[in-house]
Amino acid sequence: MLEKVILFWFRRDLRLEDNTAFTKALQQGIPVLPIFIFDKNILDKLPENDARVPFIFETLQQMRNTLRGNYNSSIGLYYGSPEAVFKKLCTQYDVQGVYANHDYEPYALQRDLDIKEQLQEQDILLHTYKDQVIFEKNEIVKNDGLPYVVYTPYKNKWKERFNPELHLIDHSPLISLGNLIDDSRLPNLTLEDMGFKESVIKVPPYTVTEELIENYEATRNFPAIENGTSRLGPHLRFGTVSIRQMAKKAIAQENEIFWNELIWREFFMQILWHFPHTKDKAFKPKYDRIEWRNNEEEFKKWCDGQTGYAFVDAGMRELNTTGFMHNRVRMLVASFLCKHLLIDWRWGEAYFAEKLLDYDMSANVGNWQWAAGSGVDAAPYFRIFNPMTQIEKFDKQKEYINTWVPELQELTYPPMMVDHKMARERCLKVYKEAVS
Ligand code: FAD
Repeated sequence: MLEKVILFWFRRDLRLEDNTAFTKALQQGIPVLPIFIFDKNILDKLPENDARVPFIFETLQQMRNTLRGNYNSSIGLYYGSPEAVFKKLCTQYDVQGVYANHDYEPYALQRDLDIKEQLQEQDILLHTYKDQVIFEKNEIVKNDGLPYVVYTPYKNKWKERFNPELHLIDHSPLISLGNLIDDSRLPNLTLEDMGFKESVIKVPPYTVTEELIENYEATRNFPAIENGTSRLGPHLRFGTVSIRQMAKKAIAQENEIFWNELIWREFFMQILWHFPHTKDKAFKPKYDRIEWRNNEEEFKKWCDGQTGYAFVDAGMRELNTTGFMHNRVRMLVASFLCKHLLIDWRWGEAYFAEKLLDYDMSANVGNWQWAAGSGVDAAPYFRIFNPMTQIEKFDKQKEYINTWVPELQELTYPPMMVDHKMARERCLKVYKEAVS
């Protein structure tokens, strides 16, 4: 007789506390077998030194240790396609149901549909729950039922609908020896098994203290200030922190600025959910008529932080070295690529997707399209950041620039790769031709 189990499938929710679907699974009265699938469909496209895979791997090892030490249980780690892994698990166990939290990216939605059908053939149900956001899908829409495409009214409706008693319930599971599978030797893996290596780039811890929230408005725009922003990005991305816990902290203080940032995240998530084609098409279709120059040598200089524009180069070097770039600088380098160099925003989006520890398709696509002018609620195309005046505003003492571009005053530092005035006029002409 096969052992009766419920499978709990970890994805973007790598934590044991305040995890909605995990808690639901543990309440069913059948031992839960927690699993994580290193999905070959995703991993095969990543370089062997990707820094996110080791982060996921180490987080799972810590969670396995906790479950082993406290509950004689563990998390089964598998490497392959989800289809193949579920097929195999269904031959090893008498699976009574599969539980998981919602995942909204286009690939994940299709994957979940396929797995749901596959399981249904064996009369097994896939139960999924909202967990990584306060409001999902079409929970916040206009009165006529259409999605919001402008942030401020979306945010206002979000706050109107928000009820801490309903939306901030702590889903911390009551794990006990009885409700998890009694087996601490579930399959494990090594990074090498999957063709990956340890990375020198690490995900730093986040800081969401009262002090950070209090000072956030004053500090968030200055990349030289250490801990001026929360560094929550990768933790929200992989679910090593619960959005409900962070929202609780954000609303506990009068200052709404930090809270509003968390709502930006959900704004872009619902945009991608309503308009999945925006992952590679302009939200405003006429922007797909822009005649991008797409010069590969120029793109390489941008990637390498060798444009001769110190603030842009500092940002790109920070990204290449740490997997992080400050939001102010992200806006500048994105504008520079699309507008000064007339390189397609999709090239920049793809480069960020490869490098950012906090890469999230909805935020990345949304913000890139914002910078290119092609997205929802985007800055008008004729607003072009001046990379020199940006220094005056946000890095006056050049502290950030000096950290990343120490050779600024030396002959080895490249000259500006393009003249600002010429590039600005060229951009206005090309954009105008496309969109007017
Ligand atoms: P904080 O300033 O402390 O903000 C807290 C959290 O709020 C962030 O972690 C994030 O979850 C959310 N947030 C803040 N600003 C935004 C925003 N504009 N859009 C969506 N969510 C926001 N953010 C990502 O999470 N993933 C991405 O792939 C991503 N790509 C970007 C690409 C470009 C071109 C630009 C201009 C911005 C991008 N952002 C992205 C948004 C923003 O830059 C990062 O969320 C932020 O810099 C992360 O640092 P932090 O956690 O210290 O942020």
